[in-house]
Amino acid sequence: MDKIVSLCKRRGFIFQSSEIYGGAASCWDYGPLGVELKRNIKEAWWKTNVHQRNDMVGLDSAILMHPKVWVASGHVEGFVDPLVECKACHQRFRADAVPADKCIACDGELTPPRKFNLMFKTFMGPVEDEAATIYLRPETAQGIFVNFSNVLTTSRRKLPFGVAQIGKSFRNEITPGNFIFRTREFEQMEIEYFVKPGTDERWFNYWLEERFNFYIRLGIKKEHLQLRCHGREELAHYARACYDVEYLFPMGWGELEGIANRGDYDLRQHTAASGRDLNYFDEETKETIVPYVIEPSAGADRSTLAFLLDAYDEEKDKEGIRVVLRLHPALAPIKVAVLPLSRNEKLLPLSTEIWNNLRGRWMTQYDDAQSIGRRYRRQDEIGTPFCVTVDFQSLEDNAVTIRDRDSMKQVRVPIKDLASTLAAKLSGEPFEAGEHR
Ligand code: ATP
Repeated sequence: MDKIVSLCKRRGFIFQSSEIYGGAASCWDYGPLGVELKRNIKEAWWKTNVHQRNDMVGLDSAILMHPKVWVASGHVEGFVDPLVECKACHQRFRADAVPADKCIACDGELTPPRKFNLMFKTFMGPVEDEAATIYLRPETAQGIFVNFSNVLTTSRRKLPFGVAQIGKSFRNEITPGNFIFRTREFEQMEIEYFVKPGTDERWFNYWLEERFNFYIRLGIKKEHLQLRCHGREELAHYARACYDVEYLFPMGWGELEGIANRGDYDLRQHTAASGRDLNYFDEETKETIVPYVIEPSAGADRSTLAFLLDAYDEEKDKEGIRVVLRLHPALAPIKVAVLPLSRNEKLLPLSTEIWNNLRGRWMTQYDDAQSIGRRYRRQDEIGTPFCVTVDFQSLEDNAVTIRDRDSMKQVRVPIKDLASTLAAKLSGEPFEAGEHR
């Protein structure tokens, strides 16, 4: 973890928030490379779950919602963690994080646990009173449930169908930490998949497999991923069944994504509280039903951490250690780096022409500072799959060298074929060293 935290800072993936003021605890900012990586993760999720399916649509609902939403959903009453306080040093902890009922800081005696609600409260409008109290959403899911009828009537969907949403959520976690694993502000990628009651178990199993394979397809090693079934006592108040997709983080197995069968709990709660029917008319049976819902709920920040950790590799070579981020090409922040062999001005026109032709298509970087070897290393460390080197011979033969991050093999390709060759390699064509003519 320390190596990833330091690489993230050094290379511009992730910075401590408000660093010049001493930092805001457990808040992190995504730098120039981090923002690309996280966008690519969200993009892969959106493509897989919305664009490439005909049973899903997207939504972007507001973070601030009517306060009654959180009463109906059960969050005002039940979204709590047990909090204990040390009677001596007054530090506060989540009760289940304190092993021996003694303060982990000073060994002092602890208060009995009390319920601590994790929702952030604020005020809407210029008057700060009880009536103006609203919450920052602790999950994006409720924005989907309250829009169920809007989406159903405007998109004319038939069951089963799903609604996907990516957005910020906020939880006043008692013990945040482990870098971007647990923070108080984070981004979720959630699906509410509505099904006919009775088909829910089948769809639940379908989504378990689908979501597990998402991470594998994007390069997470299978032995670092597992599905864990929640025990009865662990199930949330709304859930009929729940599994976590867990990743083997340096601190142990941790949840990447939760997949729950929420039954008809949410739609029924909002129907009762709002007085508006959230149901579905089944044309086949001529019955009005309340759909069941399967919810795969993932974290964009936790996934970013998992992809970074899983991609990190060190290799011994003659200059010492080569650090390489073996990120899947779809996730790599920079897809192609254009590197003229030197800063010699004869190479400049051709190098910039090549760069200009590639940058409309992919996120690229142009780098002509320092030796070519050091520039390759820099690109390896940020996970760039391919480097294109323009040398003096290029001026004669109109060809350039492509270097592969993982194998460090090189091929020479005619410039006219460069974009199509890169496209093929970025979409997974094996890298063969040698001449490409
Ligand atoms: P945990 O048990 O780790 O607190 P949870 O079970 O409360 O998580 P869910 O409510 O299922 O989490 O949220 C779905 C996903 O949102 C999680 O799998 C995780 O990826 C992400 N997530 C939840 N809380 C946080 C947080 N505090 N920081 C970063 N990501 C989070």
